[in-house]
Amino acid sequence: MPESERIKKWKKTRIVTPEKLAVARQVLLDIKAGKGVLEAARAKPMPDGSIISKAGLVAAYNEMVESGQLAAETALLEKIRMKPVRTLSGVTTVTVLTKPYPCPGKCIFCPTDVRMPKSYLPDEPGAMRALDHEFDPYTQVRSRINALDSLGHPTDKIELLILGGTWSAYKKDYQEWFIKRCFDAMNHTEDHQELESKSLLEAQLENENAAHRNVGLVIETRPDEIDPKELVRLRWLGVTKVQMGAQSMDDEILLANKRGHTAAQTVTAVGLLRAAGFKIVLHWMPNLLGATPTSDRQDFGRLWEQVCPDELKIYPNQLLANAELYEVWKQGQYTPYTTQELIDLIVDIKPLVPRYCRINRVIRDIPSNNVVEGNRRTSLRQDVHAELQKRGQVCQCVRCRELRSTKVEGGELANNDLVYQAGGAEEHFLSFDTENDKVAGFLRLSLPGHTSPDTGFTDLIGAALIREVHVYGQSLPVGSEQSGFAQHSGLGTKLLHQAEQIAKQKGYKMIAVISAIGTRKYYLERGFERGEYYLIKKL
Ligand code: SF4
Repeated sequence: MPESERIKKWKKTRIVTPEKLAVARQVLLDIKAGKGVLEAARAKPMPDGSIISKAGLVAAYNEMVESGQLAAETALLEKIRMKPVRTLSGVTTVTVLTKPYPCPGKCIFCPTDVRMPKSYLPDEPGAMRALDHEFDPYTQVRSRINALDSLGHPTDKIELLILGGTWSAYKKDYQEWFIKRCFDAMNHTEDHQELESKSLLEAQLENENAAHRNVGLVIETRPDEIDPKELVRLRWLGVTKVQMGAQSMDDEILLANKRGHTAAQTVTAVGLLRAAGFKIVLHWMPNLLGATPTSDRQDFGRLWEQVCPDELKIYPNQLLANAELYEVWKQGQYTPYTTQELIDLIVDIKPLVPRYCRINRVIRDIPSNNVVEGNRRTSLRQDVHAELQKRGQVCQCVRCRELRSTKVEGGELANNDLVYQAGGAEEHFLSFDTENDKVAGFLRLSLPGHTSPDTGFTDLIGAALIREVHVYGQSLPVGSEQSGFAQHSGLGTKLLHQAEQIAKQKGYKMIAVISAIGTRKYYLERGFERGEYYLIKKL
């Protein structure tokens, strides 16, 4: 997006007072002259003694560039931009919550708050924002995009993360409306006050060329809600990634915690999702009722024998007053692990994570005041990494290896193909890795075998499947270049080509990709054609 357009958008959402701007201008000039951001901000405090926020600095930058007092300078903008890590994985994530609604699950550890969708607390980050917007999908997405814009983040590639209880349990017309309104918000342009498309299909087609393209759509559900019919519905809605609570692979533990499904059902659901090309994120909970650190270590191993998720959220069970488990604890029948026990457990299991999996979380971001007993520390990831370092061990998961802001040159990258078997398919995790083992980009190729489940999609008959293409680097506006960063240096095209070659050699006549609505164009430009629910290419 051209600088002038970005600033025009920002002006619509300006949130900075003239007093703040005056201070911010001076601080900005000092940073431009070579001072560090914090050093410059401390040297010129606000009238009340506080230091200027990065949002204030971005505001001053925008004003000064627009009035011609300052030449646009990407390096300066990057320096003052808030939390650059938010967009370093290549896309900008926008999280929205669905309305409060009952969940078919009866899990004893799950909190209930009538103001929130099941399992969420009103003071969790993200949940609070949703509550402020009364769970309206349009305003949740719009306000988030505006806030990110005002902080100088690119917002042209959005991964939409829809949270709230069990998605599949919501009424079908609510699901359709909710997603249509999210697309409307992403399709919103300067000329429209508020867009309201006539149908989901219309909103989706509009998004293929919109200013804020949807490059990933994630919902969360339960394993026993996944069947071939649900797969079709998810594809129809535009979903590309499914988060599912596995919690444990031990039936006795699942029963004790009233999960209401078995480990076999998790295996079946993951198999179906894989065969339909979805990206799979599982939640796994140590310290459930009946578990011990030893049984958790064993259970963790089963994940890689039986389900092999692409991403994993480790959510240690947290004792909350508004969950049924609280009563069990009061009777002395449940004991939460201590912080040290948890750290020891995670340090032991993290090095076992296969290189194809990304560990997104090692603890849920629940404000510690809600935790009745047990670990209250939310910085567990840092503690775990410090301990791993002490032991001389490393975690090789995708998150620990992903290339962040480091620049790369194409020639330095090694091209790797990690092959593993999962759910009847031969999986290829194709990656470009730097000399010091950082992932610059990867592709998940799934080659279904004769034991892969039948999903019923005609698009997928006899097809190899591309489940994910991800190239790292600061999320750049579509079409812009930044020399040395991975995202636009053609790695995606190289990975696609490699996947096509492997599929062809293995005898597949076709390759299909599960494309988000906003990435369809990317694949269409690379020889794919529109199928019914997938983009497909003859080999
Ligand atoms: S399925 Fe999920 S949201 Fe529903 S009760 Fe269980 S943990 Fe809570």
